[in-house]
Amino acid sequence: MQTHEQEFRQAQQFLKEHDQFLVVSHVQPDGDAVSSTLVVGWLLSCLGKKYVMVNEGPIPKRMDILENSEDIVDLSRQPLDETFDHIICVDCADFKRTGKTSLLFSERACILNIDHHPTNNGFGTFNLIVEKAAATAEILFDLITFMGIKLNLAAATALYTGLLTDTGGFRYSNTSPKVMETASKLLEYGVDGPGLSELFLEQMTFPQLKLLTRALNGLQMSGDGKISWVTVDDEDLSATGAIHEDMEGIVNYPRNIQGVEVGLLFKVIDETAVKVSMRSAGKVDVARVAQHFGGGGHVRAAGARLEGKLDDVIRRVIEQVKAEL
Ligand code: 5GP
Ligand code: MN
Repeated sequence: MQTHEQEFRQAQQFLKEHDQFLVVSHVQPDGDAVSSTLVVGWLLSCLGKKYVMVNEGPIPKRMDILENSEDIVDLSRQPLDETFDHIICVDCADFKRTGKTSLLFSERACILNIDHHPTNNGFGTFNLIVEKAAATAEILFDLITFMGIKLNLAAATALYTGLLTDTGGFRYSNTSPKVMETASKLLEYGVDGPGLSELFLEQMTFPQLKLLTRALNGLQMSGDGKISWVTVDDEDLSATGAIHEDMEGIVNYPRNIQGVEVGLLFKVIDETAVKVSMRSAGKVDVARVAQHFGGGGHVRAAGARLEGKLDDVIRRVIEQVKAEL
């Protein structure tokens, strides 16, 4: 934390010196995004500040168990017509990731950008970017400690959820000694670690399992066995009754195949655009591949949105992965 002391101090000052905030995270929020949004909201309430938490779309259903998750406004269902001067963005690698929530930023908005993506371009007025952190939740834990604020069980649970989900259950290479230390401290607050693992990493809905089965049926492999991919489109969702968030995790299956260096999931958005999720076994920096297409992420987990039809997008992405191999 010492190395980022100045940034922690600035973040603290930003939170303390203003009174009303907008807290946002990235489109199609994952566990870390939702948890970090809630924790910033909790921190602001500790400071006696007013705030609104917003996301471009809905919060994944299973995150309902996190306290106050129902307070995160889903802009797609509940448009807001006010704008805000003081914004806190969590887990967003670039401005574009905030999606339509950016329509709520006033022209003179001051942005505090708290994130752990190495591809973060420092789009904030103030930037608290800690690349070494496994999750934005880890940075927030340090910020709360820095500010001398005592956690409660709900905030500890949200922080643990962010750590748990972004480390794949404390298994990925970002699981540093500090992650384990932080998780250990959070467990001291009474966080139900096994319960959260069961809920976020083990349990599947039946439609979700059917979607996985269907996607794996179409699994493809490059000739050299180093790249493997699956695709999902709207028809797969409607045929199985699965919902958008059920796609999370599918990309790990192609990546898990022995010998595969890069696993890919292509999600067809519509006739003109495809979202690709990338996972690396370690040799290939998929954040670089994603950046090539205007996306970003981490060395081993990244994503991008590409314009074009599915076949064309697959060809372009695989070509780029091959160039990195
Ligand atoms: P996922 O494949 O699970 O959606 O995302 C994997 C990682 O890549 C996450 O850290 C996520 O924030 C990042 N990521 C996914 N899509 C994009 C994107 O379009 N732009 C950027 N900058 N990062 C992305
Ligand atoms: Mn994250």
